[in-house]
Amino acid sequence: MTFGLHFGMIHIYVSTVRMKRRGKSDTIYLKYRHKLRKVKKQRYVNTGGICEKCGKAFKADKLEIHHVESVTTHPELATSYKNIRLLCHECHVDLHRKQRAEQLASERGW
Ligand SMILES: [Zn+2]
Ligand SMILES: [Zn+2]
Repeated sequence: MTFGLHFGMIHIYVSTVRMKRRGKSDTIYLKYRHKLRKVKKQRYVNTGGICEKCGKAFKADKLEIHHVESVTTHPELATSYKNIRLLCHECHVDLHRKQRAEQLASERGW
């Protein structure tokens, strides 16, 4: 087996795992959407309507719910006030990009 082929297979495997994970979290989001909306509102009011990472003020619909412990590994914390952070889109994407990079590195044993 050539190195290129081997690497390609690992890539397909990782993408499949990620797709399954994504499907699971979507189900959880759908299931808890009413409760999540409530918790988000509560958190928005308590934090004063800012992104909890960069500290800039945003309208509620521009802030996204981030779970400190991922809902795929901790579904019981999906609507936990303490497990939720409100982040602007930019910070949220940035955070997940970093987490993904770390996760990929650990999956590959780096
Ligand atoms: Zn931000
Ligand atoms: Zn998130």
